[in-house]
Amino acid sequence: MLVVMKRGASQREIDAVVARIAEFGITPIPLPGAERMAIGTFGSTSRAAAEAVESLPGVAEVVPVSRPFKLASREVIPEDTVVRVGPVPVGAGAPLAIMAGPCSVESREQTLATARAVRAAGATILRGGAFKPRSSPYNFRGLGVAGLDILEEARAETGLAIVTEVLTPGDVDAVARVADCLQIGARNMQNFALLDAVGDQPKPVLLKRGMSATVEEFLLSAEYVLARGNRNVILCERGIRTFEKYTRNTFDVNAIPLLKRLTHLPVVGDPSHGTGKWYLVAPVALAAVAAGADGLIIEVHPSPDHALSDGFQSLTFDNFAALVGRASAVARAVGRAVRDAAPA
Ligand code: PEP
Ligand code: MN
Repeated sequence: MLVVMKRGASQREIDAVVARIAEFGITPIPLPGAERMAIGTFGSTSRAAAEAVESLPGVAEVVPVSRPFKLASREVIPEDTVVRVGPVPVGAGAPLAIMAGPCSVESREQTLATARAVRAAGATILRGGAFKPRSSPYNFRGLGVAGLDILEEARAETGLAIVTEVLTPGDVDAVARVADCLQIGARNMQNFALLDAVGDQPKPVLLKRGMSATVEEFLLSAEYVLARGNRNVILCERGIRTFEKYTRNTFDVNAIPLLKRLTHLPVVGDPSHGTGKWYLVAPVALAAVAAGADGLIIEVHPSPDHALSDGFQSLTFDNFAALVGRASAVARAVGRAVRDAAPA
């Protein structure tokens, strides 16, 4: 349930509600908002508790939360969440966030060259996997900690914030020391131990939709992170598996406005994994922006033909720069702010 306090309710009244809820053995979660203070209780909430709280001074109403996801829901938190990735705000009202970089950190030269190019084109966040989830154990699985060092150097040189994937709970500390945002990949969207682990630390989380996950399962995975106390979750639509074979995945453009309606969390689109084909990335990126995405995450490589992973869906520097210009035009057309040109 959600206990909504009257506008101007005193701190004493709020404390009394929190204490009364706790007496029922339920954990109260204070949810301060711009418009009003609310206190959530999720999980098993008894009717007796709801009735006891409803009559306390300062309480406006007690509303049941109908969605299975709670802290992720707009019912519970009506105002849009803006997540800061390093210095970069991501979310409604913030400029379109452009995250770009190689699928994998392959070398210092490849990563620094890509970082410089995407920054010059207008990206503010560098992506790149040091720990790579691969369908085959014989494929390149990333440089690991050496890759994190390269990302750190790229940030120091370019000022770009870093988003990079973490695969196991045991790696969370090492990745969080370098990353401004921890990526949970599609294959790990329902790795609940990993979701708990990233929820227990303060760096923002970019949560990718599982390849066969419904929107509700996706939001319940976000709920795992939020419920542990980390409220900085960015959702990423990256395509789902369908019967279609010409594309790697089917980018679910529906999910973008649907998520924006169901949740207050920022939503970004990944047309690289969403299509699997470099020549489909730009049109689908534009569709994501038109549909209301708060940002894009795009794979870029100095020489896509030589990439150690996902070369076929990676953009060249020139194609990426052209896409940023067009995405900015679409963003303006749908009433979204865009960032000023990158400083020289
Ligand atoms: C990636 O971002 O390179 C990646 C592995 O993505 P996904 O988890 O969406 O497949
Ligand atoms: Mn990739």
